[in-house]
Amino acid sequence: MYDLLVKNGKIVTAEAVECGNIAIQNGKIAAILAEGEEPEAAKVIDAKGNYVFPGAIDTHAHLNDPGYEWREDYAHGTAAAAVGGYTTIVDMPLQNEPALTNAELFDIKNAKVGPNAYVDYCFWGGLIPDNFDDLKGLDEKGCVAFKSFIGPVSPDYSSLNYGQAYEAMQIIKEFDGRAGFHCEDFATIKWQEQRMKKEGRLDWQGFLDSRPVIAEMLATVDIIEIAKATGCKAHICHVSSPDVAQKIKEAQQEGYDITAETCTHYLSMTDKDVIENGPLFKCAPPLRSQEEVDRLWSYVEDGTFSGIASDHSPCSYDEKFNEILGQKINNVFDVWGGISGIQSGMQVSFYEGCVKRGVSPTVLANAMAKKPAEAFGIYGQKGDIRIGFDADLVILDPEKEWEITSESLLYVNQISAFVGMKGKGLPVCTIVRGNVVAEDGKITGEKGCGHLVTKLR
Ligand SMILES: [Zn+2]
Repeated sequence: MYDLLVKNGKIVTAEAVECGNIAIQNGKIAAILAEGEEPEAAKVIDAKGNYVFPGAIDTHAHLNDPGYEWREDYAHGTAAAAVGGYTTIVDMPLQNEPALTNAELFDIKNAKVGPNAYVDYCFWGGLIPDNFDDLKGLDEKGCVAFKSFIGPVSPDYSSLNYGQAYEAMQIIKEFDGRAGFHCEDFATIKWQEQRMKKEGRLDWQGFLDSRPVIAEMLATVDIIEIAKATGCKAHICHVSSPDVAQKIKEAQQEGYDITAETCTHYLSMTDKDVIENGPLFKCAPPLRSQEEVDRLWSYVEDGTFSGIASDHSPCSYDEKFNEILGQKINNVFDVWGGISGIQSGMQVSFYEGCVKRGVSPTVLANAMAKKPAEAFGIYGQKGDIRIGFDADLVILDPEKEWEITSESLLYVNQISAFVGMKGKGLPVCTIVRGNVVAEDGKITGEKGCGHLVTKLR
């Protein structure tokens, strides 16, 4: 007898959509059965003809825990992820106090956040100028990648120059790790910001013009070249521009292991939203034009991206509208940059892609589950609906209409650029290792049911 049978689903993988039943034993997928084949199980969930996706993987989340729990914490952030359909998140090392930059801090962070997690989680390791000797230790602990900035950063997390990136990637290559980068050329955006301020352009168009595509392009091209020179695997975080995606695609076609993610907001929102609505839509890189959003989708479809991430970057209401850590907000450049979206990723991607653009659901299974699991070294355990994989599943009702409201968001701070968005196609049941952790927008799992996932060896 199986523990759980999920029956009458349209099972979506990166390859196909097929009607069938999934039998689960000890948290793993034990059998994939044809329609009508119904072995005995302790519990049966009827998917009622809805899609059954592999659980989505959020390759880029800032849960701010430990250290800034008033922005977000594991209990709220992973509950929101569960409701939204991300069954594994890859949590960032910064906006943590302390930032996750050595093996000892890995254990301290895990002990703090693990008891509150509702979905499984991996850690990005920190990559800053003074922790190169700690990278191997972080890899041994199980960090799935290392996060660095070629661009401006918070005071407690320094960016690398290209020389340092070259050295770090030589080190990371030695243990077959992956170096991930926020790619916006520091010199370009700093100069542009000064220029905007000098010209008195303190409005939202000034902000957009301070972070042009060329800044993203310059840093991405440089990181690609360093990856080629060192042979180190690289990951380009939150790509906002189709022209940047094209450069990454070309490097992939040359045979280099350079992966990249985009984010839900770059696939659904535009620069117009920033101009019209301001603070909540500020993020970096910034939102681009409608024409670029449309073209960006083609790189989701062709498999260039290994991840449609949330880049969930929560903050308080004050940090968007009044002051940040005691510093008054005087103009657009002072406003907290970041969009909260970990709860909305799958429904918005499904609506924008599958409903509005006719993209096959297999594309989302590929971009949101299979490819991110491969890129972050956890494929085999996560990322697919296959026998022996963790039973991480999301039942999505393609006909269910939705409107995102602030009350529906499970975040510590219920503010988001996604509030007010409407669409169709909603995750209605989320299963992590055979446990139903969320149903119809509500948490049903127990706090702490999410487990640490480490790089497979
Ligand atoms: Zn980020």
